[in-house]
Amino acid sequence: SLEAVRAKGLLVERAWIGGQWCEADSGRRFPVFDPASGERLAEVPDMGGSETQRAIAAAAAAFDSWRRSLPQERAAVLSRWAALMREAQEALAELVMHEQGKPLAQARGEVAHAAAFVEWFAEEGKRIYGEIVPTNRADRRFLVLRQPVGVCAAITPWNFPASMITRKVAPALAVGCTVVVKPAEQTPLTALALARLAERAGMPAGVLNVVTGADPVPIGRALTADARVRKISFTGSTEVGRLLMAQSAATLKRLSLELGGDAPFLVFDDADVEAAVQGAIASKYRNSGQTCVCVNRILVQEGIYDAFVRRYVEEVGKLTVGPGWQPGVTVGPLIDEAALVKVETLVHDALEKGARLLCGGRRLHGLFYAPTVLEGITPEMRIAHEEIFGPVAPLQRFGTEEEGVRLANATDYGLAGYLYARDVGRILRVAEALEVGVVGVNTGSTSNEAAPFGGIKQSGFGREGSKYGVEEYLELKSVCLAGL
Ligand code: ADP
Repeated sequence: SLEAVRAKGLLVERAWIGGQWCEADSGRRFPVFDPASGERLAEVPDMGGSETQRAIAAAAAAFDSWRRSLPQERAAVLSRWAALMREAQEALAELVMHEQGKPLAQARGEVAHAAAFVEWFAEEGKRIYGEIVPTNRADRRFLVLRQPVGVCAAITPWNFPASMITRKVAPALAVGCTVVVKPAEQTPLTALALARLAERAGMPAGVLNVVTGADPVPIGRALTADARVRKISFTGSTEVGRLLMAQSAATLKRLSLELGGDAPFLVFDDADVEAAVQGAIASKYRNSGQTCVCVNRILVQEGIYDAFVRRYVEEVGKLTVGPGWQPGVTVGPLIDEAALVKVETLVHDALEKGARLLCGGRRLHGLFYAPTVLEGITPEMRIAHEEIFGPVAPLQRFGTEEEGVRLANATDYGLAGYLYARDVGRILRVAEALEVGVVGVNTGSTSNEAAPFGGIKQSGFGREGSKYGVEEYLELKSVCLAGL
């Protein structure tokens, strides 16, 4: 394994700080495993606070000239970076598949998606317009400038080891910020491969830095405590998001938090059953259910319930579980033992409280869990309101449209929501009523670089992708010209 990755020079076992490939101060390293095979893939530096401070210093030193470079120059570097990612798509996909576990086709898709963010923001960075505000005095004019926030930190999760990085880093760099990335400890190799491609694309030293560590706590502390870091963009659990927000209070950092989800998937009586089944399968089992926008609850209206469930269970039976490199595999392993135990616990709790198992419901081998369908879900069950992050679909039945919407919104989270219906009035009513940041109507996959992505409620705040994605990395400055 990893032959294509090695051949391209993309198996990198050192961190990237200030344009140097570095070891940890302590010399310690930690291993990265393939969740499908348990194979040890590589070792990377086990860094902590002091290395993080050096990365911040490097980013701060690079900020001065990077912010002054022309948007076109930054765009050129980013475009080359995107092109190199596309050129290395197979190698990067192999790396993503091995360290994260998703099937090869999905890994290829992630790499394309990651490059698409870079290309999008390379373009967007050239279009950061200011404003001239109508004046309130004859001798005055007001200008509004949009300027880079400064040094940013990106703390990213393991479920999309490539695209979660580019979605934050590309807009930051495009508008003149510099960045320190802390990838998830489960998936540092993709981050380092992307850094190597950035180096090849001619990214100046210190503009992008990647700090790896087995323990995120000291790195997170160093990033939040340092006043030079002006902004943190985080994707991960709600719990860690809250912690980072609290830690950032002392230095009043700007924050973008993309946190947990509990996506409802509403199927109304007037839905196209086949389309709804396909949409639900795609959204539920993508990445083995390990995305923050994965369907977490399938809510089906009475009139269509039996037809939907019969076809849904049939289709789940056609999923192929296995290692990502096997042809035809659609569901890979979970990321680690803790993730698997959490899924087992939620299913066990639901069954104990009266849920019925329609298929699956057990660990297969290693970190593989059988695609599972449960019905008869009630509010006392943990699975009714906790993020599952695994290949388990809880089904609930509802009567009226109002009841469906009420159930859908009965959660602390508010990231994605899906609905299948034909009636235009219903589609608009429900899309407006769902308390989420992203709605999929008659589709189970909405993610793209052109539309804004992000949550409300306990799913966080801030938007990524689209023209709004750059706002997260910009400050407004008013310039008042007097005595004219
Ligand atoms: P998940 O449950 O998806 O692993 P986490 O929120 O634990 O979600 O992880 C997302 C990212 O946050 C990872 O990069 C992880 O290392 C990092 N992280 C976890 N705890 C902390 C912390 N205390 N400070 C800073 N980063 C953290």
